[in-house]
Formats: sequence, structure tokens, C-alpha cells
Amino acid sequence: MSQKMNVLFVISEAEPLIKVGGLGDVGGTLPLALKNLPESMTDPYVIDIKVVIPYHDQIKRNQWPVEPVVSFKVLSRNGFITANVFRALKTDLPIYLIDGEPIQNTGTYSSDTSIDTKKYAFFSIAALEFCRAIKWKPDLLHAHDWHTAVAIQKLSQIRSYDTFFSQTKSLYTIHNLPYSGGNHPEILYAFDIHQAFDPEIPQYMRNLPMALGLDAADHINTVSKTYAEEIMTDGFGNGYQNYLRSHSGKVSGIINGIMMEQWNPSAEKVLYKNYSVDTLSDRIENKRMLQQELWLPIKDQTVLFVMVGRMTYQKGFDLCVQALRQMRDLDWQIIILGTGEDSIQKTCLSLSNEFPDRVRTELRYDEPLSRRLYAGGDILLMPSRYEPCGIAQMISMLYGCIPVACATGGLKDTIKDPFDYPDEYTGFLFSHPDVSAAEWAMRRSIEYFQDQDNWRQIQVRAMKQDFSWEKSAKKYFDLYKSIQSSK
Ligand code: ADP
Repeated sequence: MSQKMNVLFVISEAEPLIKVGGLGDVGGTLPLALKNLPESMTDPYVIDIKVVIPYHDQIKRNQWPVEPVVSFKVLSRNGFITANVFRALKTDLPIYLIDGEPIQNTGTYSSDTSIDTKKYAFFSIAALEFCRAIKWKPDLLHAHDWHTAVAIQKLSQIRSYDTFFSQTKSLYTIHNLPYSGGNHPEILYAFDIHQAFDPEIPQYMRNLPMALGLDAADHINTVSKTYAEEIMTDGFGNGYQNYLRSHSGKVSGIINGIMMEQWNPSAEKVLYKNYSVDTLSDRIENKRMLQQELWLPIKDQTVLFVMVGRMTYQKGFDLCVQALRQMRDLDWQIIILGTGEDSIQKTCLSLSNEFPDRVRTELRYDEPLSRRLYAGGDILLMPSRYEPCGIAQMISMLYGCIPVACATGGLKDTIKDPFDYPDEYTGFLFSHPDVSAAEWAMRRSIEYFQDQDNWRQIQVRAMKQDFSWEKSAKKYFDLYKSIQSSK
């Protein structure tokens, strides 16, 4: 006899409707992977998953087709606020969009924390009330990052007396711990949300949405095993480390997957030349054309580094820029693609000025170019100071672009270094986010690059890996089951 498992998946972004960063990938792809798990893996359960996101202005502007589902009132100390819920059409999954006054006329994320805190507190509570409005009892609330933490807290407050939610358990997934949300006790008060009370959470942090989610969740997970361990340390815990250490039994990690079919160098139109492990010798065309496209000298033997990502302190671009200055004795080129903080953009541009015949810095978001970089670059540099999961390294390996990365979070869990895996290595890791460590690893990678036959083998190993969602979705399903059966 099959049994239904109702999962309410509450998140701030879900592609294809809205994607600002990696969270949008997860919001669109993990629920789909869960839904598509073969019956044999979920038996005797049938997963019924409903994804709920805010009806962001950007989705309205893009005129994604929707149909109205239900309207109801959300209680606040300042009166009722009407929530209108729509269902997105033309999606492979049921995605529900919540609208209401606090959500209207806001950016997806706002630099004004009071706007964001109100928006997402309302959204989180409305996501719970939506279930009641459609008479669909969730067995599990799966909420993500600080934006949806209020849902976890509200659930824990009401389920002792509210029979509709009395059986609902909660899972809180941390994608990026330092983003805690704003400190606005007055907004929490307006929605009758209590502050976190665990003594291991510092007093001054107890009104932060992240603290509420951590404190109230039945289980916490992060997007890689290593990040789950790191956030319990002083270096990565952002003030939550004592709390997380004392509740380590409810913290675990599951690596994100990627939609492998969306990242396939044998089928993509934006590449100069398609290739696969079987036609790897065709890959060089992509390198030559990329050098030509960006006015770099066309040289097969010169190692071509690429660096793609948000230009924030987290991503550590500055470390590699400085390391490259110290590596002027070697033959290399680099193409940097990204946008972000002014100072980091300037740091990258200054390298272009110093090495005009070796460095290109492209300051924009350009997905087709990113794909050509993965296909034409020899080595991806990913010197992140912390990286909860990271997907760029997985994509680049599937394209045969070998990563050099800091051994942190998901980078450590997805890249195999020759020291640890002498026969199976797929990239190069350095243990501390500093310039000399990055330089050491980059020099090491260039040395390996000189032996082109061996390099080919590294590429083949990297490209043949399975980063699909199915394995991780199965782990999430097992976690759902164990949370559901816990007291
Ligand atoms: P994060 O989610 O922290 O930004 P990830 O490595 O998980 O980092 O994901 C970054 C994704 O965004 C990758 O797919 C990368 O290719 C893409 N990306 C980042 N910056 C750019 C850019 N400027 N142009 C094109 N793609 C980009």
C-alpha cells in the first residue's frame, strides 16, 4: 500500500521562474529530482511536493503565465494582510506564488533589511497558511536559508496546539550561513514570532531570521558534508558555532546536484565545437577560438586559466590575481568573467593592465561566454574562502576544465587531489585561502599540464563523473523519512 509524503518546499527562488544565484537552481531542480525518483527508491511512499516562492515583481514583469488558486488572510498585530496565491503554468512541478502587500513593489532581495524582513516573514507565514487554505497537510516543511526561517519558527510555535500542523516536522537547509537576515524585532513582534531562546545563540543575534530557523528546526542540513563540519568551527560559524556544536546531532550535509543535461559539451549550441570524452581532441578548437574571441595570442601550449563567478570577498579572486603576479616567470593566460564589488572588479582590471597580452577581464553576467570558458579553458580557478557547495567546479569538470580550488565546503567534497587520490584525481586543492597556497597549487597544476597525455586522462576522469541530482535527491528523501519518523 502506498503512502503519501506531503512536502512543503519553501524557498525564495526557483528556476525557471526566478534565479538570482545557486539557490534558484536548487529551488527548481531538487524538487523535480525528488518527484522523479523511481518508485523503487521511495517505496512505500509517493512524494507530493509543493514548491512555494514569493510572487516577485520580476516574475510579474516577465509575464510568466499563472492561474489564481486561493486567497486568505494572514494575521498580524497591525491587522489582516491578504495573501493571494497563484500557480505557475508551464512548469514540470507545481510551483505556487504568494502575493501580498509586503511582497509587492520590492526587488527579489532588497538592500533595506526592514523591507526584506517584512516581505519574507509575511511570505513564510503565508506559505504555511496556504496549506490550510487548500486543506493539504504537510508531513514536512523544508525551508531554505534565512528568507524562509520564520516558517520554521512559526511552525514550532503553533504545532503544539494547532491540530492542522501537529504532525508536521521541519528541515532547515543552510545554503549560506553568513547571510542571516536583518535584526528587526518589531517585525517579528508584528507577526507574533518569538525570538530564538537557546543560550548558545548570542543574545544580540536572537532576532535574526537565521537564528530562528536554526533554533526551531527539527533538523538542519547544509549543501555539503564538509560545510556542515566547518560551520561548527569558529572560523566559519558566524556566531552560531557554539549552538551548532551543541546540537551537532541534528546537523548533516548533502551535496547539491546539477541538471547534467543542461551542462553537456557534446550538445551545446554556444560552443565553437562540440566534443565529448570520445572526441576530446576536438576540444582544442574551443580554446583557440576563445583566445581569438578575446584577442589573446592563440597558443595551444600556454595554459589558459579561467575564473567565473560573483566578485565578492567569499570567492577569493584577489588571491589568484596576486598569485599570478608572482608567477610571471611561467607561461599562462587568464580570462576572468564576473560582476560584483567595485574593489574586486578593480583588482581584476589592474591585472589586465599589467599583463595586456595575457589577461582579459570581462565584467558582466554572460552565460554563453561562461560555457565557452568551461569548454575552452584548461584550468578553472576557484579560490573561495568558503564555499557551501559550489556548482562552477562541477560544471567545469564535466567540460574537461580542471579545477584548482581551496579545500573548503563543497569544493573539498567534489574535487579529488592527487595527494589523496593518486589514481583518480580530478583537480588540485590547496588547504588555506592565502596567496602562497593558491600560487603553490596553480604552479602544481601547470606542471601537470605539461604532460599532455596524463592531462587527457585527468580530463576524461573529470568529465565522466556523475553529479546528477538523483543520488542527492535520494539522500534528501531518506532524510525526510528519518525526520518524519523521529519523535
Ligand atoms: P554561487 O551560487 O555562490 O554564486 P556557484 O558556483 O554555486 O556560486 O554558482 C555560480 C553559477 O553562476 C555558475 O553556474 C557560474 O557559471 C555562474 N556565474 C557566476 N557568475 C557568472 C557570470 N558573470 N557570467 C556567467 N555565469 C556566471
